[in-house]
Amino acid sequence: MIRPICKDTVLLSQPAADASNADLQIAVDLRDTLQANAHRCVGMAANMIGVPKRIIAVLLPGTQMPIVMLNPRILASSGEYETEEGCLSLSGTRRTKRFRVIMVRWLNMAMQPQKRRFEGYAAQIIQHELDHCAGILI
Ligand SMILES: [Zn+2]
Repeated sequence: MIRPICKDTVLLSQPAADASNADLQIAVDLRDTLQANAHRCVGMAANMIGVPKRIIAVLLPGTQMPIVMLNPRILASSGEYETEEGCLSLSGTRRTKRFRVIMVRWLNMAMQPQKRRFEGYAAQIIQHELDHCAGILI
């Protein structure tokens, strides 16, 4: 189900709680909502659809189907740089610091543990969405 985008900064500033298999419908809704907004958005965290759970959906460069991550965590990161980002839940763009390479651990929608290295734009999108999970807005 496609859900409306939350722009309430009080709700968006609330850190997300870990997701469980009871939250898989939220993950599906998040994926659907990201796909519906794919023309203007490459990633989304569950609190952007009003649910404070640690779930993100990311459209990796060159792919059509968002990758959904439950309880993603960054295990390692390197290559800090400064960049500018926009956000569907905020207006304008803001400066922020990111890492070029990150190692991420998460559960997929079958609740199986995954681990993968991301770099460049993909890493940047994931870091932005993980900030959302922590209640951090750029
Ligand atoms: Zn955002």
